[in-house]
Amino acid sequence: MASLKTMSDNAAYRKHYRETHIGSAYLGQAHLAFAVIFSLGGIAFCISRLESVQPLEWLTIPLAFLYANLVEYAGHRWVMHRKVPGLGLVYRRHAGQHHRFFTDQHMALEGWRDCKVVLFPAILMIFFFGAFAAPLGLLLAWFATANVAWLFVIVALGYYLNYELLHLAYHLPDGSAVQRLPFLKRLRRLHHAHHRADLMAHANFNITYPIGDWLFGTKR
Ligand SMILES: [Zn+2]
Ligand SMILES: [Zn+2]
Repeated sequence: MASLKTMSDNAAYRKHYRETHIGSAYLGQAHLAFAVIFSLGGIAFCISRLESVQPLEWLTIPLAFLYANLVEYAGHRWVMHRKVPGLGLVYRRHAGQHHRFFTDQHMALEGWRDCKVVLFPAILMIFFFGAFAAPLGLLLAWFATANVAWLFVIVALGYYLNYELLHLAYHLPDGSAVQRLPFLKRLRRLHHAHHRADLMAHANFNITYPIGDWLFGTKR
């Protein structure tokens, strides 16, 4: 077995991360299942609350999608790659752990348990949803209509799930079946470039669709 001295920095960090951050009871499959059930369950509930949606109310979907894309961009660019007081945990998890675990030379997971370093922890997921999506949904219900609020929450949950699934797909080993999807190949290349040490703080901050990167001129 390779000793720590003969291991590459990346292999040594991966070993250290697995030993110190992934508990013996952790199951990547359960983590992924929680994200999927939390999002799809929420979406199903919100759909059941919609009542005769008016044409103008459907506009919520593209607007909320654009909003989510810009939140993703801003969060990744200015919170995950910069120390913001009070949000140090997010910075440490992303810049300190995710980017050390996955470098442009070592982008692939090596088993289900490595999902821990890709997916948001369940507690952060509930925090972000409670702190950002739910209050805005309530404001929309107050200032607009209940349908607009439910549609907004549907998009927020759907966007979040899409983010997690795409990010996970980018970190699957080369040759995985999902990577045959043509749009996935292009998006994956953008994210791989983002994992380059010289680019990570400067380019390709959208994990999903590069709308924010295109608007701010940071697409590489
Ligand atoms: Zn990544
Ligand atoms: Zn990053």
